[in-house]
Order: sequence, then C-alpha cells, then structure tokens
Amino acid sequence: MIIYKFGGVSVKDASGIKNICQIIGNAKCPLTVVISAIGNTTNLLEALVEAYFSGNDKLRELLNQVKKNHTSLIHDLFEEVPEQVLTDVNALFIELETKITKPSSDQFNFEYDQVIGFGELLSTTIVSAYLNQIGQNNEWVDVRTCLDSDDNYVDANILWESSKEKVCTRFTKNQNTLYITQGFIASDPKGNTTSLGREGSDYTAAILAHLLDAEKMIIWKDVLGILNADPDYFENTTKLDTIPYHEAIELSYYGASVIHPKTIKPLQAKQIPLWVKSFIEPNQNGTLITKGERPQPLLPNYIVKKQQVLVSLKPLNFSFISEKDMVFIFSLVTKFRIKLNFTQNTAVSFVFCVNTSARNWKDLAVELEKYYEVEITENLELITVRHYTSATIKEIQFKHHVLGEQKNRNTAIYLIDTNWNFPHIPKKEFESALRDFSFQENLE
Ligand code: ASP
Ligand code: MG
Repeated sequence: MIIYKFGGVSVKDASGIKNICQIIGNAKCPLTVVISAIGNTTNLLEALVEAYFSGNDKLRELLNQVKKNHTSLIHDLFEEVPEQVLTDVNALFIELETKITKPSSDQFNFEYDQVIGFGELLSTTIVSAYLNQIGQNNEWVDVRTCLDSDDNYVDANILWESSKEKVCTRFTKNQNTLYITQGFIASDPKGNTTSLGREGSDYTAAILAHLLDAEKMIIWKDVLGILNADPDYFENTTKLDTIPYHEAIELSYYGASVIHPKTIKPLQAKQIPLWVKSFIEPNQNGTLITKGERPQPLLPNYIVKKQQVLVSLKPLNFSFISEKDMVFIFSLVTKFRIKLNFTQNTAVSFVFCVNTSARNWKDLAVELEKYYEVEITENLELITVRHYTSATIKEIQFKHHVLGEQKNRNTAIYLIDTNWNFPHIPKKEFESALRDFSFQENLE
C-alpha cells in the first residue's frame, strides 16, 4: 500500500483537482489518498463555528459561502455534473445546516469538531466523483468508520488498538484498489466526530501508513520539497534532499509548516519512507525523510513563527519567581490548553510566548492578572535556527531587534520585536558590516 496526502491548496480549484487526479492516475495501486478540505474551507468553517457558538448573525452568510464555494467548484470541474455528486454534496449541506440550526451546547471544542470535518467530507466526495467520471474507479471511505479516537475534541488522541483492526479490514490491499478518504477527522467511542488539530491531515496519512504497513507515503505540496527556509521570508533557499526522521521531528516541532509535528513518529516506528514532493512538478525528486544521522545538505534551517504575543509576569509582592510559581503558571497554561512557543525566567519575572491566534490566551492573561503583574507585548515573531553558525546568529542580531535568545548545541531561538523599526541601512553598508562579522568570526 502507498499513501498519498494532498492538502487544501492542491485542490483549491477545478484545475487543481484535475492535476491531482492525473498524479493519482499515474500511481501504482493499492493506493490510499488522504485529502484535506478545499482551499480555505477550514478557516471558513472555523468562523462558522464561532458564529454558531456565540449566536452571531454572520452564521447564514458563512454557511452560504461554504455552499457557494463547493457548488461553483463542481460546476467548473464537471462538464456534465453527475446527479450523484449533487445528491451527496447536498446531503452534506443539509446535515451541516441541521446541525447549526439546533441550539449549541456550552462545549465549544465539541461543537467545533461536529462542524469542522465537513470540509474534508465535501472535498473527498467531489474528488472521488470526478475520478469515477474519468474512469478511475475508487472507493470513498468515511475515515470516521475506522479511525477511533478519544473525546479530547479539537486535539483528539488516536486509539491505536481498535483503529488497527478496523483500518486493516476497511482498507484491504487488493491489487487494484484506490481509496479516497479524509484527513484530519476521526470518531470517538460515542460516534461523535473528533478532529486531530489544524493541519492534521498529514498526521492522518501517517496513521494509515503505520497501521497498513505502507511501503511509502508521499505528501504533495506546492513547493519542491522541504527547504531550509520559508521562501516567503527568505531570499535564497535550498531544498533539502534527505532529512533523518529525528531531524524532521525537530523542524516540525519548532514550527516548520511543511509537516504536521505528529506525522513523523508513526512513520519512524515502522521505518516507512516519507517523500515531500511538488504537485506542480511531480517528476522532480522532492525531499526524502528516512533513517539517518544528518540532513543532506547540512545547512542552517530557519523557521519563522509570525504573530506571537509575549506575556511577562512579575510577582505582585517583592518575592522571586519560585518553583511553586512555575508549577502554578504551567497548570493554568495547561488548563487553558495553550501551547507555549518560548519561555524564559529571571529572578523576578517569567515570560512566555504564544500564537496570537490561540483562542484562550486573553482569558489566561486575565486569570494571571489576579496573581501577577502582567505585561503584554504584541507583534512579535520567533526565528528558530537549527544548525546555526556564528555567522547566521550575527546576521539575525544585526538585522533584528532581539528581545530574547535561547541556544543549545544545535538550535537557537530568537524572539524578535517587529514593533521596532530599523534605521534604514543602505545595502552596501549592510553587506560590508556583515563582512566585518565574518572577519571577526575568522579571528575567533
Ligand atoms: N483542513 C484541515 C486544516 O486546514 C486539515 C488539514 O488541512 O490538514 O487544518
Ligand atoms: Mg491544509
């Protein structure tokens, strides 16, 4: 069995879907294809859940937008729209509409998961129908019928034992079978839909690869593979040819957005090779993640996390930040289900960084204000450098206003204040200053 995963960008319009169907058509079966929601559907559904939960009047408009996006995609994609796909897609629209017409419970995460998976159910229904129409017979699988999880809504944990049996029965390894299924969702013991965390479709593909002892897995992206830096922020990027599993885990942990952080472990456990390849240039080699010691080529890898907020805490009295404070602060952070991206403490302060998009961070700050003096700084970013050199570090320090730094043998993390504008430095002077840095480096 081979596992393919296609993200939302690859299926964002009719030509995207035609392109991935061509890639699927060229593949060897048995093949299982995991697909995300189309384009920005998950973001739209997130807004829809917020509106539903808070009783906001945008609800109808958002629902209509989701419907319209999928309906026009269908009309762009099919020359003659088969009745069946309209029936199936309409059934999903009705199910979604019925859900959000009923009053919401007071459990946001539960409600979120009952709505968010419609994106994947719709996209896979459309792609499966299109493949059938162009003569590529396939089986559409509702992944919730075989992927079990606990009821930790929004970030559910897979129940490996019970899933194994069901997945192996559902996805048989018959020679010619092509399966189309959803990423990102599963089902809890009561049969409610659960989700595995944003961008979780990579993880779904890896879970299926693990349970089915897949020969390999390919994640198809709009870049040539894994690059040493995000081309949106860095000028000269280089594609990495191979990356060891442990290194890929580190990169995704620090926020490299190419792969969902939970993806690698299930593959590593069974030594299943993972390719990251371009759906635009499918014949190019891409990046191979496999066993090994070092990435090839070995270069500094930059990971940028934008939209960070720094929360600084100081005790209200004249005391120090003690171990007790740390336990208390972390227990609140866990209770609010917040992920910290950076932490640092001094004798009288403790600071941490979270994504501005984290749903609860303001509530957490309000709670902390009962016990500490709280200061908030927004518009920050984190730059992590794996395999840094002294030159890369000097460059970062020279180009940015660094508020905090953390370094170990392989990794350096910088907290950058983007509120602070650099005085304009002409390119020539900047380059000569950098040369001075390199010169100093030689002297060291
Ligand atoms: N559609 C989901 C998301 O956008 C899952 C995924 O794309 O992996 O987060
Ligand atoms: Mg996605």
